[in-house]
Amino acid sequence: MTTEPLIYELSVPGRCAAHLPDLDVPPSALPPEDMLRDDLPLPEVSEVDLVRHYIRLSQKNFGVDLGMYPLGSCTMKYNPKVNEDAARLPGFTETHPYQPVETVQGNLELMYRLQECLKALSGFCAVSLQPAAGAQGELTGVLMIRAYHQARGEGHRTVMLIPDSAHGTNPASTTMAGYQMVEIKSDQRGNVDLDDLRAHLDDRVAGMMLTNPNTLGLFDEHILEITRLVHKAGGLMYGDGANFNALMGVAKPADLGFDVMHFNLHKTFSTPHGGGGPGSGPVGASEALADFLPGPIVARREKGGAPFYDFEMPPRSIGRIKTFYGHFGVAIRAYTYIRMLGAEGLKWTSFAAVLNANYLQALLKGTYPLPYDRPCMHEFVVEGRIAGAPGVRALDISKRLIDYGVHPPTNYFPLIVPEALMIEPTETESKPSLDHFAEAMLRIAQEAREDPQRLHEAPTTAPVGRLDEVRAARNLILRWKREA
Ligand SMILES: *Cc1c(COP(=O)(O)O)cnc(C)c1O
Repeated sequence: MTTEPLIYELSVPGRCAAHLPDLDVPPSALPPEDMLRDDLPLPEVSEVDLVRHYIRLSQKNFGVDLGMYPLGSCTMKYNPKVNEDAARLPGFTETHPYQPVETVQGNLELMYRLQECLKALSGFCAVSLQPAAGAQGELTGVLMIRAYHQARGEGHRTVMLIPDSAHGTNPASTTMAGYQMVEIKSDQRGNVDLDDLRAHLDDRVAGMMLTNPNTLGLFDEHILEITRLVHKAGGLMYGDGANFNALMGVAKPADLGFDVMHFNLHKTFSTPHGGGGPGSGPVGASEALADFLPGPIVARREKGGAPFYDFEMPPRSIGRIKTFYGHFGVAIRAYTYIRMLGAEGLKWTSFAAVLNANYLQALLKGTYPLPYDRPCMHEFVVEGRIAGAPGVRALDISKRLIDYGVHPPTNYFPLIVPEALMIEPTETESKPSLDHFAEAMLRIAQEAREDPQRLHEAPTTAPVGRLDEVRAARNLILRWKREA
């Protein structure tokens, strides 16, 4: 563990990092006595101590600005800094959600335009920017499906079908919405098993949640047949749009038969995430479900011959899912990113994401078992098992990668692959950086055979070694306490 002094230990009574000018206005009264306390153990440090504290912390962190971050399913692409410039424009930052709409027309126009971009990319007829993240978008979509069935007098439909390769948030959202989840098997090629799907389609089915490409990084070869079968049984299709980075400008989820889908703006559209800030999970809907979207949604009207933007509640809306208007700052970043690349640029983004993943898959598949050996989309899953090194696990390989300056891939997910390592390089890694990753993976395989202990001891170059993750989760210590 760290040996540098904690900022609390540097504290000296009376020391201060800020120098305020003399008061040139009358002092205002302090809050009531019972709200005042002088026993708050806040550190009292100089500006130098403070700056060093935060710089030291920042250097202990691994981030996408420091190296490759192939965390499968999370799309840890580089986040262009121009997004940050746009999000910090005073016209955006110095507005308040309670302001009259006449005074924030620019903000509303941006939201409207983003809704339009997401509609164009997905083929859906309406988009709500309300949900705070992908998982909340899922809950939103399932609540919309429930409202749809109830409105048609089909409230008895309470089963949601979910493939065994699905992200854990899918069953969680289903359960939160009061639905029962039923698991559908994958077939030998990593598609939804059509026979298993058919066997589960009856009049209790409200719909199916599907990620396409799925979490194995595979585009379902029977997608049109799946959506047709579910619709024929009276169900609706929920699209988990977390993997939209593979499809932009290439395929529209609405054309594939999805009725409602969330976008992860923080994945596909380059907003920092994973400790870097809030997410945003707008939801798009087809004709059948558009009226049920959460609101308010921004509408464009005419007023005195000029466009006027206003908030509007969809007629049969499930209501608000989030305070105010969603995470506006993320919407600015996503809109900036979309406009910077344009339609053509977004298409090439997806092409490059898919090409990079296939390149890595080809380099690794002779060394790491590839359970579904076919061209992948923007990510792929190998088994973290090495011939001739029986004691080495996916976890050891991941920890050793840290020593090579690379963030580990996603481990032990999806659940249907033993010792899964899920690798998503993203389009923003160059060929040398992909080569560095592949070389590290191949060197680790060699180390595993020659000196497995080295892998069990990894990482050796990180500020902390192997943490007891179970204990950390069960025994959360979220703030420093002065020792008694
Ligand atoms: C990331 C992810 C989610 C959840 O999205 P959040 O924005 O993290 O809530 C759902 N499904 C898949 C496949 C994902 O990768």
